[in-house]
This record gives sequence, C-alpha cells and structure tokens, in this order.
Amino acid sequence: MADLMTYAGPAPADGPGTRTGGVPLVPAGFAWPECTECDGAMQFLAQVRLGGDLLSIFMCQNDPGLCDEWDATAGGNRAYLFGADATEPAAVPGEGETLLEEVSAVEVVPVDAPAYPQAAAEWSRRTGRPRSDVLGHLGGEPAWLQFDETPACASCERPMDFVMALEEGHDWHTKINFGGGRGYAFRCAPCRAAAFLWQR
Ligand SMILES: [Zn+2]
Ligand SMILES: [Zn+2]
Repeated sequence: MADLMTYAGPAPADGPGTRTGGVPLVPAGFAWPECTECDGAMQFLAQVRLGGDLLSIFMCQNDPGLCDEWDATAGGNRAYLFGADATEPAAVPGEGETLLEEVSAVEVVPVDAPAYPQAAAEWSRRTGRPRSDVLGHLGGEPAWLQFDETPACASCERPMDFVMALEEGHDWHTKINFGGGRGYAFRCAPCRAAAFLWQR
C-alpha cells in the first residue's frame, strides 16, 4: 500500500493543509531560512500536515546546482517540524528566489501496490491521468533513486523517520527543481527536527 499525494488543482497560497508552493504557515518569531552557501533567501517548496504537526521544506534556488541544495546537511536546504502554533503566513523576504510560481493542493489516495513506483503507475493507468500528477507519497518506504541516504538526527543521532517523497510537480513550467529527481523528507518527532534531501 502506498499513500500517493496527487495533484488536486490550485490551492490558496496561505492554506493550512498539505500543499506545494504558496507561503508557509509558521510559528511566531520564525526567521525565513538563508542558504549557508550563497547567503540568499531560500525557496519555500512544500508543507505537509502530520496530525498536529506541520513539516515545512525550503531549498536554495538562487544559484541552482551550486549550493549543494540536494544535501541533507550542507546548508543548501532546510526542513522544519512545526507544531500546532504554525498558524500565520511567513513574512516573505523581498529578495531572492523565495516562492514557487504555482500553489498546488494535494489529495492523498491510498493505492494497493507493493511499492511507490508501482502504485504511481497503477494510479495513472486507473485514472487516465499523467504520471506527473503524482506529487509524491506519504510514509511507507522511500523508493531511493540512488543508495539509501536516511539522515541521522542532529540531536539524538538516531536514523530519522521517513515522512514523504516529493516529486518536481505536475507542470514543467512551475515545477520544483530537483534536477529531474525526487525529494525525500524526514523527521525526528521527539527532537522536533526535520531533514530534506533529493536524489536523481
Ligand atoms: Zn544558495
Ligand atoms: Zn532526534
């Protein structure tokens, strides 16, 4: 079984649910993340509702490919695990590549298949919709494009829990830039920590 995240049309830019693009909902006092490589403001990619928590993903796009933005720890991306107090749209910095050009709603569709790639293919076959309308999947096992890169929690050093795989998106004009690859998000709930990486 795989819980596919499928494209569900345009979404409000400040909606509380799982979406790609728009403006992230954040707790009071939140400071928009900056890339440690180029010092530019990062781009908000997606937020994922996990019960009362909200996992939020950012990545540098000021110098695509030059800021180690695929790496979980190099400082070219940033993931947060917010709590129920993440209710206000963040203040968006005036400079840098900060927002995606489209806000996409996500509908989670359980599909009975051995693994994510088969589930995505089965959903596409059954619905007649393009494979690119599958925006990723929630939970289960990550389908690695390369070797297993499950990050360790920076606080407790245990392997983090896989939360979501994220595809580039349904429209190549507005898609996220993973170099044609796929993103992977993780959390350590006890440490209130999150991490993100991508592979191709
Ligand atoms: Zn950068
Ligand atoms: Zn931890």
